[in-house]
Amino acid sequence: MKFTRRTILRGAMAAGAMSALPRLSFAATSLEMGSARIDTLSDGNLVLPLGFVSDNPAAKPILESYGITGDAVEPPCNVTLYRDGTNTVLFDVGSGNDFMPTAGKLTEAMDALGVAPEDVTHVVFTHGHPDHLWGVLDDFDEPFFFNAQHMMGKTEFDYWIDPATQDSIDDGRKTFAAGALRRLETLQDQIATFGDGEEILPGIMAQMTPGHTPGHMSYQVKNGSAQAFIIGDAIVNHYLAFAAPAMAAGSDQDPDLGATTRVALLDQLASEKMPIVGFHLPEGGLGHVERDGDAYRYVPEV
Ligand SMILES: [Zn+2]
Repeated sequence: MKFTRRTILRGAMAAGAMSALPRLSFAATSLEMGSARIDTLSDGNLVLPLGFVSDNPAAKPILESYGITGDAVEPPCNVTLYRDGTNTVLFDVGSGNDFMPTAGKLTEAMDALGVAPEDVTHVVFTHGHPDHLWGVLDDFDEPFFFNAQHMMGKTEFDYWIDPATQDSIDDGRKTFAAGALRRLETLQDQIATFGDGEEILPGIMAQMTPGHTPGHMSYQVKNGSAQAFIIGDAIVNHYLAFAAPAMAAGSDQDPDLGATTRVALLDQLASEKMPIVGFHLPEGGLGHVERDGDAYRYVPEV
């Protein structure tokens, strides 16, 4: 298995022009898996209030030890592309144009890699939050990846397609529910659903990791003896989620269930020592998990 790191710089990079331009650099990482490969593609980043991570006073010293002292965090967004010679699979599709101006950059990152929307054969969702789902339609409300079979875990699909979710979800996420409903209604005839433990494509096994959302799915990807684990937002940052995995996270819709899932998943990932891709983990999102006393640490593959 071989890791490479690549920084792709695009756009007008001439000195002097930079300060007036939005950020146009994309960091990406790759993992060769025998005859298959994973590339992570940057969709940009989010800007979130720190309280969305945790408002627990016990979190403060941990955050400070990671240099996080302001009012906001800017997590990166890493979409995973898996190509095995037959299938070209995108795990999540980023934010599109309607969520945050700092995100929705996936197509530029795909361009840089030479992959066109029509090349994508499958779009597989970890969950239905805006930064993972909203890029699925183009400006005409047609599927952006128009040749792709779309796939989502059944529990997750059923939750967001239910109009009652807009009433039951907390106020801060009502726009999430409206945005997911509109997109999934549009896609409904083109989306396949599946359950926990199913092999959804050759070498790709779904593993339910609920709590961040009711039906959040992670994916074990295997090709020959090589494997990797695509964890979406089951482990949502490289600081608190590793240093204090049992601590409730503000970004989880069910914080207690999210913590239970995270504790079990980190134990599994540290034991199996396999590469992981986290949607909001730094340095392109590819790394692995190591034990650190009673907790864990994230080790990026740079
Ligand atoms: Zn996310």
